[in-house]
Amino acid sequence: MNNVNETIWDVVVIGAGAAGLTASIYLAKAGRKVLLLERGAQPGGRAASQELAGARLNLGPHAVYKSALRILEEVGVTVTGAAPGQNGKFLFEGADGEEVVVPLYKLMLGSFLKWSEKSQMIRFYARLRKMDTSALQHVSLQDYLDERFASPRVRGFVQALVRVSSYCNAPELVSAGAVIDQLKMSQVLYVDGGWQSIVDQLKNRAHHAGVTIHSGTVVREISGSSPRMTVQLKDGSRLSARSVLSTAGPTETLALLDSESDAPEAEIYKRLVPVRAACLDLVVSGMPEPATKFALGADYPWYYSNHSAAARLTDDARRSVIHVMKYLPPAEPSDATRNERELEHFLDRIQPGWRKHVVERRYLPHMTVSHAVVTASGGGLAGRPGVAVAGRPGLYVAGDWVGSEGMLLNASLASAKEAAQCIIADIRMEKEGMTRGA
Ligand SMILES: Cc1cc2nc3c(=O)[nH]c(=O)nc-3n(C[C@H](O)[C@H](O)[C@H](O)COP(=O)(O)OP(=O)(O)OC[C@H]3O[C@@H](n4cnc5c(N)ncnc54)[C@H](O)[C@@H]3O)c2cc1C
Repeated sequence: MNNVNETIWDVVVIGAGAAGLTASIYLAKAGRKVLLLERGAQPGGRAASQELAGARLNLGPHAVYKSALRILEEVGVTVTGAAPGQNGKFLFEGADGEEVVVPLYKLMLGSFLKWSEKSQMIRFYARLRKMDTSALQHVSLQDYLDERFASPRVRGFVQALVRVSSYCNAPELVSAGAVIDQLKMSQVLYVDGGWQSIVDQLKNRAHHAGVTIHSGTVVREISGSSPRMTVQLKDGSRLSARSVLSTAGPTETLALLDSESDAPEAEIYKRLVPVRAACLDLVVSGMPEPATKFALGADYPWYYSNHSAAARLTDDARRSVIHVMKYLPPAEPSDATRNERELEHFLDRIQPGWRKHVVERRYLPHMTVSHAVVTASGGGLAGRPGVAVAGRPGLYVAGDWVGSEGMLLNASLASAKEAAQCIIADIRMEKEGMTRGA
């Protein structure tokens, strides 16, 4: 790290996930000298995929919202893939306490729902795109559902749609306005080659733009303020930078600050509640009920999808990638073994005999899908922390918990771009000031 240590970097970016890579590209393209540090062996973070049994598996089910493509295209990334099919099955709790599996078309055409329930659902859908959500940003999803829908089945159905679009299973906390806005942009793509294809392109674009990337490098501390900031690494070495951008999570970022308690943002970061999931990822050869490609729990926080039905993820056409997931509630301590059994039980209900078809399985019991639920108490997206860290000139943050735009990857990309633009403007002003002063 010698010449790295001697350089005064314009920006040191911590974390080479989607946010760090994207911000680095914007910064380097604007002529800034950028060092990108990643503690993992490879860039990618939660957007990385893993090769298993000849298949590319994302870390749990990942779909790109089409609205994220604008920023990806701006930094030179092309995404290919296809939208998942619209038909699916829903699981409700029956009168005997057992799950009842109902295909979507039967929900609307069959006798499982009463006419009044069907008409509530149709009205909700019909109004969705034009719904003005400004008055709902401070309202919790639970309050919204209780007030709007008398039927528990309709409430369960709407909650299933909210969970699949936001991954959030916290109806008492989450902002109804924010999740309805998220539901409105429901167009997603399953990505050919997995999300790794996005990571690989971001990495190549970053190299091409002149970003220096060091993987396997753990940052321990950030100190100072712009234009003299110091980043200390685990090996004890120190780097100098004009600005620092952390794309680590809120808790991890706070732990990096030399005097954490002084940061006015500390209290806000500590209050953020993560969105978590337990993921069972499978490579299978055929399935007992191949027509069942997608299923959601209405009365249960479960997700099932055959991602190979839309995206190219294997070289062997007989094999498919299946993602099964439980949306974890934030309040309950989660029991990894019990959750795995629950997901297996869910599979027994929709794909009886599935075990014989499994070529490879991977269980990820505690995935952080997003570092922050978008809360009603915060007034929706407007309540999330900003990119500039108050009281720390020169320190910026980006990620799926930052900024007032989007959720999940969209938030990471939007905050990465915004942070990069702020840093570019700061450094320009500082350099102009120096020239004028000289
Ligand atoms: C199961 C699951 C399903 C998901 N599905 C979707 C989906 O369908 N659609 C969607 O839009 N989003 C989805 N997401 C969310 C999406 O993956 C993330 O929002 C996005 O990848 C986050 O990127 P990031 O760069 O902000 O954070 P990360 O990918 O977490 O990157 C942060 C990086 O910082 C590094 N780091 C942390 N601390 C340090 C340190 N001290 N020193 C050096 N490096 C450090 C980490 O190793 C990491 O690589 C899903 C996530 C999960 C887990």
